[in-house]
Amino acid sequence: MGVFNILKRFILFTIITVLLLGFIVTVNPFHNNFLTYGLPLNNGAQEKIPVLCYHHVYDGNIKKSVFKDSNTVLPLSLFEKHMKYLHNNNFYTATLDELADFMEGKIDLPKKTVVLTFDDGYRSAKGLIYPVLKKYNFQGSVFIIGKYSEEASNNIHRFENFQYLSYEDMQEISDVFTFENHTFDMHRLDINKMPSLIVSTPKEVETDLLTLQSKLDCKYFAYPYGAYDNTALTVLQETGHKLAFTVNEGYVEMSTPKYEIPRFGMFSYTNMLEFRKIVNLKA
Ligand SMILES: [Zn+2]
Repeated sequence: MGVFNILKRFILFTIITVLLLGFIVTVNPFHNNFLTYGLPLNNGAQEKIPVLCYHHVYDGNIKKSVFKDSNTVLPLSLFEKHMKYLHNNNFYTATLDELADFMEGKIDLPKKTVVLTFDDGYRSAKGLIYPVLKKYNFQGSVFIIGKYSEEASNNIHRFENFQYLSYEDMQEISDVFTFENHTFDMHRLDINKMPSLIVSTPKEVETDLLTLQSKLDCKYFAYPYGAYDNTALTVLQETGHKLAFTVNEGYVEMSTPKYEIPRFGMFSYTNMLEFRKIVNLKA
């Protein structure tokens, strides 16, 4: 083969390589980052996401109420301060679908993104939390305990001091919230104070998870009391849940295990100093 032929092949190879690289860089078929329109990660997209975990919100004087010893109950005024801070500082509240897509590398999320979650499905999600989120155009997800919401739908209220969202309530506030799985009836401790999810057989767990899934079409799960084991992880995967949330503190990254998503618990003592640290990735 002459020197000329080798040179020709080399030039051809170089041209094809350059064209191919150019195509990948411009079109980027492997990364559908529609939120930031292909901007590189250091130019506006987020790498770590804080997921916040609220429970009940109360608008009376907590110190004089039955909730005075319950640190998961937030005064409405504190919850309003949290949300006002997010609004004033241009935070984006991502949905769980967006969080799942972010973790799969399908989309980028903006800097200053948080995810808002509310555990147990208290009726304060409708009366107190919904108006605040609606005002700021925020979105959130409520983890429902199926049996309690089913009872509420039949006008049965098992506790005197607070009520749960009925299915009708959920429909009314579905422009702000999605409703997800916190078990149908495994938000309980057995006589040895062990969480029901942990002491039940895989078949029992599966039956429970599918019960609420069939009613609410849930894709996401939060572990009652934050307790989980390998059985729970396997059953969640088998029943088609995409992510499962713990109460271990930490930020969500692409590499975070999908059935052990950490969250920051929001408590009556989560003041603004603490809150700012968490949402600004300094916790
Ligand atoms: Zn719970």
